[in-house]
Amino acid sequence: MKRNVDISEISDGRLYSSNDMVKADTGGCIGCSACCHGMGDTIILDPYDVARLCEALQISFEELLQNNAQLNIVDGIILPNLKMAGEEQACTFLNQDGRCRIHQARPGVCRLFPLGRYYEGRDFRYFLQIHECQKSGRAKVKVKKWVDTPRLAAYEEYILSWHYFLEDAQHILNQSGTDALRKQVNMYLLKQFYFKPWESGPDFYLQFAERLREGKRYLGLA
Ligand code: SF4
Ligand code: SF4
Repeated sequence: MKRNVDISEISDGRLYSSNDMVKADTGGCIGCSACCHGMGDTIILDPYDVARLCEALQISFEELLQNNAQLNIVDGIILPNLKMAGEEQACTFLNQDGRCRIHQARPGVCRLFPLGRYYEGRDFRYFLQIHECQKSGRAKVKVKKWVDTPRLAAYEEYILSWHYFLEDAQHILNQSGTDALRKQVNMYLLKQFYFKPWESGPDFYLQFAERLREGKRYLGLA
């Protein structure tokens, strides 16, 4: 999701790469689950998040949408995000002890927090959000350790491809989109990248690359 804010107002003014140290380590978030409440529709799920969640929970994307996620329009594109529920507007994956019950399969946004991604020039760097995490005295940690994602280089390449593919799709729809075309493209993207199950055995990134090639052909980007 794009945020039209001045990065100097929400960060410590630095941009980080995966090998940099950053004051993000919350020490296991003991006693705190603030960022698992009241997040509205901001924890957007990318295809890898959905593949990982569906595999861990042994459910389909349709089932994920029934209980834990919902669809929303983000800059003209329909995307899933984690659902907040109940009086406390808590993530449906938060257990009664205030801990994440899908920690190993938690989405990328949750893995990053309180870091964010800053995209520029078809690349991205990480930044530290200074107004979001309530934990004081956070320790320094290497970004790649904090992000806690295997094969980080392949993951970062995938993140970039997905981000700029969506941006290109948004651009096409903004330039020439009729309501009918918007609906058609959105249905295609949802089916191609979310409803169509990801196979758990083969490499996700290879599957994604093939679907992305098809998606780019569909949108006339390749
Ligand atoms: S607000 Fe900070 S300390 Fe609290 S749960 Fe989120 S990341 Fe952890
Ligand atoms: S998936 Fe886990 S870490 Fe992410 S918001 Fe939900 S409970 Fe919190």
